[in-house]
Amino acid sequence: MFTAVATAVDEPLAFTEREVPEPGQGEVLVKIIACGVCHTDLDLLQGHWPIARFPVVPGHEITGVVAAAGPGVSWPEVGTSVGAQFLGDSCRRCDHCVRGEQILCPRKRITGIVMDGGYAEYAVLKADFVTPLPQGLDPVAAAPLMCAGLTAFNGLRQGGITATSRVAVIGAGGVGSLAIRYAVAMGARVAVIGRSDRGEAAAREMGAERFIATQDSDPAEALKAWDGGANLIFNAAPSTSAAAAAFTGLAPDGTLVLVGYGPEPLTLPTRPMALNRLHAMINPSGSPHDMRDTLAFSAAHDILPEFTSIGLRDANAALAAMARGHAGKRSVITFG
Ligand SMILES: [Zn+2]
Ligand SMILES: [Zn+2]
Repeated sequence: MFTAVATAVDEPLAFTEREVPEPGQGEVLVKIIACGVCHTDLDLLQGHWPIARFPVVPGHEITGVVAAAGPGVSWPEVGTSVGAQFLGDSCRRCDHCVRGEQILCPRKRITGIVMDGGYAEYAVLKADFVTPLPQGLDPVAAAPLMCAGLTAFNGLRQGGITATSRVAVIGAGGVGSLAIRYAVAMGARVAVIGRSDRGEAAAREMGAERFIATQDSDPAEALKAWDGGANLIFNAAPSTSAAAAAFTGLAPDGTLVLVGYGPEPLTLPTRPMALNRLHAMINPSGSPHDMRDTLAFSAAHDILPEFTSIGLRDANAALAAMARGHAGKRSVITFG
């Protein structure tokens, strides 16, 4: 099978032919249809994942079809369309695992970082950690839902979104656009925060009622003027300081959820935080039940990401474009 391998930090992906792997106990072999290119894949190659086990096949936005099941595996059946995500395995015994919060397991294992992922024609995956795709969901368009979608959907949920929330989304790229559309579909009111007003028309088209350009106005003040502030600020921009600048625009008991952040520390003003019981959290992806809900909600509300189809050989170019900040639409590797 044709395979891309991350061999070491700061090395481009190497392309190679490998034997199709055999699924072991508790595993399934998935014939991959599509794999999205996530920023985490670039982080891996740039050395930001000390736990990485090189050589590793990157990729954790996987969709495909179960081609074979390992010994003792009765689910999912051969022929089932499935997706696989960032969280590839966990201990299944700790308090977090038994509560269905496997993403918090201290012994969790990450697809495409310590286990081979989706930049290949086949992958062996843990049967309990794949998610059946809802009927009718296009497996190519659904690939980015396995990480970008999950991160957006579950970030809003962990931030306590309700149908009466005012939600401010910072950054309207891949994850941010999905967050806007999910929040609108959940019944929330949405404001979008961008640097310039270039993104305003697109934000309004997605259902945002307000657009705040930080080059023209202070985001925290603009949010406070929005019926008393945002109940949830969702930061999808790759900047910690962008999130911090909006923080005091939260309404009392509001929550800042970061899914994007930079290397700088998060600095927040403690007095307004204490007076108004404000919260801040970084949400790491999600557990298998969050993945199911993300796919079900996306299918029910027809929320699919914009993407560009590429071949596996184009992966280095897509990652290089991402490194330069010129990624554009999400790249999805497809296997014909
Ligand atoms: Zn565990
Ligand atoms: Zn990802």
